[in-house]
Amino acid sequence: MNDTSGVGVLDKAVSVLAAVESGPATLAQLVAATGLARPTAHRLAVALEHHRLLARDVQGRFILGPRIAELASAAGEDRLLAVAQPVLTQLRDATGESAQLYRLAGGGPGGLQAAVTAAERGHRVVLFERHDRLGGQVQVAATVPSRAEFLDIARNLIVNARRAGVDIRTGTEADPDSIRAERPDAVILATGARPSRPLWAGDHPRVVDVRDVLEGRVSPEGAVVIVDELGFHQATSTAEFLADRGCQVEIVTNGMVVGQDLGITLDMETWNIKAHAKGIAQSVDLVPMAAEAMEGGSHPGGVSLTLQHHPTGTDQQRRCDWVVCSVQQQPEDGLWSELRGSALAVYRVGDCLAPRRAHAAVIEGHRVAVAL
Ligand SMILES: Cc1cc2nc3c(=O)[nH]c(=O)nc-3n(C[C@H](O)[C@H](O)[C@H](O)COP(=O)(O)OP(=O)(O)OC[C@H]3O[C@@H](n4cnc5c(N)ncnc54)[C@H](O)[C@@H]3O)c2cc1C
Repeated sequence: MNDTSGVGVLDKAVSVLAAVESGPATLAQLVAATGLARPTAHRLAVALEHHRLLARDVQGRFILGPRIAELASAAGEDRLLAVAQPVLTQLRDATGESAQLYRLAGGGPGGLQAAVTAAERGHRVVLFERHDRLGGQVQVAATVPSRAEFLDIARNLIVNARRAGVDIRTGTEADPDSIRAERPDAVILATGARPSRPLWAGDHPRVVDVRDVLEGRVSPEGAVVIVDELGFHQATSTAEFLADRGCQVEIVTNGMVVGQDLGITLDMETWNIKAHAKGIAQSVDLVPMAAEAMEGGSHPGGVSLTLQHHPTGTDQQRRCDWVVCSVQQQPEDGLWSELRGSALAVYRVGDCLAPRRAHAAVIEGHRVAVAL
């Protein structure tokens, strides 16, 4: 068959995609596989990356991008499900073994790992993600430039999921009806967590969550107090993010040190260097008591925040334009509540079971998939 379409640049772009189809490729490997000149291969690969038809793995090699899966899913209209049932029945009858189709809801690290492990163990796996991109909260965390490397955990899992043949459906909400309609043998929920509002926050509109900031729902300006109750990257990276945008930032914590768990990941020293360089103030031993409306301030509508210094029991006041909370989230467990007790075998992994960190979601995703 003649492989040329008559549109030279398109043929060359397709040859680049074809070269990556068999696995990750460096620029040199692209040049060797396509026969294109190095500058041409580079320009095409970068342009395809811009359109998300290519992406890079952790080593900077080109891999197929997320748009490919989205297009395939849109074009296929759930072809897997249409063809799976008769094939699975035949397989079961021919081998006497159980052949099963698994559905997953949630494309964060927990859902991705469960999908990879289940698919590598021979199951047919469909992964639903309501957003148009995979990665869950890891994507949110990696919004902060200094935390971009955190996205590697999701990138690796996405590459592995594609290699393992997981049918990835981004932009697709899973709900009880759509799940039941597919008649899966098991459902793994990895639907993550959502911000929760602390009692002391009241209903002041300028008291928001770190995710409101990093997901772009609000754009704080002026003086910002960040309340760190998690002791990890959530508060410190949001502080950096806002300081880089010109805010005067103070982090307050009830702990003895801001971001206390940064010591575990050896990030504490770097954080302190950056906090000093960016003028981020840090105050410890302070428990938030109440957030109330404040008159005046550099941005009208600010917040008066009452903090109690717990070693002495004395109150302190902060008058600021915004308060940003880094506090324990709530499990996103609506689907679990609706599906539990039904005839379906339903499992939960990661933050939708109990909001924690990415490694817990990955470990649980793997364990549940191994046990299927
Ligand atoms: C700012 C920030 C920084 C962080 N930093 C770190 C860190 O440094 N180290 C660390 O270990 N952890 C960190 N975490 C926490 C970590 O990202 C989470 O614990 C982890 O992502 C949880 O993984 P998960 O798969 O359980 O859920 P999530 O990552 O929340 O993924 C859940 C996915 O399910 C999708 N979904 C939900 N409901 C449906 C539905 N009905 N249908 C289809 N899709 C659905 C969501 O859109 C989402 O993509 C951070 C979190 C934040 C917010």
